[in-house]
Amino acid sequence: MSLEIRKIGIVGAGQMGKGIAQVCALAGYDVALNDVSPEKIAAGVDGVGAMMGRAVERGQIDAAARKAALARVSPAPSLQALGDCDLIIEAATENEEIKRTILVDLCPTLKPGAIIGTNTSSISITRLASVTDRPERFIGVHFMNPAPRMQLVELIRGIATEDKTFEAAKQFIAKLGKTITVSEDFPAFIVNRILLPMINEAVYTLYEGVGSVEAIDTAMRLGANHPMGPLQLADFIGLDVCLSVMQVLHEGLADSKYRPCPLLVKYVEAGWLGRKTERGFYDYRSGTPVPTR
Ligand code: NAD
Repeated sequence: MSLEIRKIGIVGAGQMGKGIAQVCALAGYDVALNDVSPEKIAAGVDGVGAMMGRAVERGQIDAAARKAALARVSPAPSLQALGDCDLIIEAATENEEIKRTILVDLCPTLKPGAIIGTNTSSISITRLASVTDRPERFIGVHFMNPAPRMQLVELIRGIATEDKTFEAAKQFIAKLGKTITVSEDFPAFIVNRILLPMINEAVYTLYEGVGSVEAIDTAMRLGANHPMGPLQLADFIGLDVCLSVMQVLHEGLADSKYRPCPLLVKYVEAGWLGRKTERGFYDYRSGTPVPTR
């Protein structure tokens, strides 16, 4: 069965889905973008156009490349519309039940040779693969945020992932001009296993009153040379995503050192999810980020 990848289906047109769509379309792939409603799908396609527009303004791509790439991105009104895709990247909300439902519904519509990749930040690839009809053609393809700018993609094999699936995914990422690192299938893989406990610790530092939002971010930007402070980064990632990853680490590794900070839980319960809701550790509503603590 041929594994040549020409058309990519993306399920979930949020910040990651849009970024992945942009990268794939610019690399010459046809892209079909799906989400839960026609409005979200349309917003996703428009969002890809807007992101590429900003890339043109910054001189990263030229206007002709944007136009050609945008012509390759189409809306997929349902999972059935992904039946002609060679690779489907699931980039929906970081919630195992949501992802399992998508995968179960998706499989009957796919070509027999199609590969499924998931962009999950933390959930077991083996467990997600087990609900599909093709665990041997299932792989973790973990892009970083923002996908167009970040060089790394983590590849994670599930227990059943075949070598030719891994090779096809590797070639696909190379065609995108990105670099892979390979992680075993353990909670949160490599990048988030290290990054998210650091962010969670920053929230504990805030929770315990060791420093203010500004003090913590300044400390890590200037004291550890991080390009962004950990709380600024948490807002950028999305506090719901941060909490989900910590919960997966906590449950998956059963170690209290991964206990999500109660203050992180409180922000998520308030719906203060960071940049995407315009409020998190900073308030973005006035245009200039103002610390919320
Ligand atoms: P997001 O909240 O911006 O977008 C998620 C999208 O999924 C939403 O548009 C939502 O409507 C859609 N969705 C929910 N249920 C769906 C369904 N049944 N069918 C189709 N679409 C559905 O989240 P995000 O930050 O783009 O994260 C998406 C995935 O990427 C998650 O698995 C996350 O862990 C992972 N990821 C996130 C980051 C990050 O920094 N935010 C980085 C790497 C990977």
